[in-house]
Amino acid sequence: MTYQNLAEAIGDTPLIRLNRVSDATGCEILGKAEFMNPGQSVKDRAALYIIRAAIASGALSPGGTIVEGTAGNTGIGLSLVGASMGFKCVIVIPDSQSQEKKDMLRLAGATLVEVPPKPYKDQNNYIHYARRLAEELAQTEPNGAIFANQFDNTANRQAHLETTGPEVWDQTNGMVDGFICAAGSGGTVAGVGMALQPRGVKVGLADPMGAALYNFYEHGELKSEGSSISEGIGQGRITANLEGFTPDFVCQVPDEEALPIVFDLLEFEGLCMGGSTGVNIGGAIKMAEHMGPGHTIVTILCDYGSRYQSKLWNPAFLKDKGLPVPHWLDEPSREVP
Ligand code: PMP
Repeated sequence: MTYQNLAEAIGDTPLIRLNRVSDATGCEILGKAEFMNPGQSVKDRAALYIIRAAIASGALSPGGTIVEGTAGNTGIGLSLVGASMGFKCVIVIPDSQSQEKKDMLRLAGATLVEVPPKPYKDQNNYIHYARRLAEELAQTEPNGAIFANQFDNTANRQAHLETTGPEVWDQTNGMVDGFICAAGSGGTVAGVGMALQPRGVKVGLADPMGAALYNFYEHGELKSEGSSISEGIGQGRITANLEGFTPDFVCQVPDEEALPIVFDLLEFEGLCMGGSTGVNIGGAIKMAEHMGPGHTIVTILCDYGSRYQSKLWNPAFLKDKGLPVPHWLDEPSREVP
């Protein structure tokens, strides 16, 4: 079978049994291999749907510019899909995000605007900055510009409602009991939730420390404590993508729990992932303990680990943050005898 363009290569990712955590919990814990998308992350799906919706509405014209505020992965997806369709991308990214993601964005042809990290309520937060830049470029670019707006553009969750959720259902022959993942924009959890909850599947939300959703769904208050080194997740408000979705189960997964899971995943299963995947699997373990043995629980393997070589996979960075370091990551190369 031959794909006619990059867009057709997005989605239809396999489910991989996560053997250690499945055996430990007595549940089937399956990871949806979103790192196998062309842009190596779950966000390719949202990028494609956002671009398609903007073309369909007439907002995005041939040769137009797509502007987005992103932790990286959405920008990589938009830039690659955009390149395949003849659109330019301008990406506003908090300068705290990994160097590898910034390098990949430049490789993918995006114009990068790095801004200091600011809370959402600050008008210089990267999302507000991107919105203003899109408004300016809409006036000055010859073919116009749009703001992709992944957080509040529900074309994002529509991608997961129409593709990720139904894929999980079909791949498990309808035997899936639970689905859980963390939220950045909330597009994945809400979109999959809206696809699977009506089919009787329990859908959970796993929050990293520093995010406010756990307290919101558990205690009705958008409140956060602590922090996390995971990138791309950790939401402080109810985005338009989260509106109308209510999780059946919520939990918090601190880095001290998530990181050893990510390290084991590489050491014992050959899966090299980013930090958000550790929060997702930590959530799946908690959901398995809550539901009891014998259930099938699906989570998301969000993005490939090479994107975090300088942080999560760097012993000096981990030590500096007081986080656990896997022994094999810290061993010097062997001398040639
Ligand atoms: N993990 C990573 C690495 C991400 O970049 C993102 C998206 N920012 C997510 C998880 C969360 O996905 P969503 O935006 O669909 O909630």
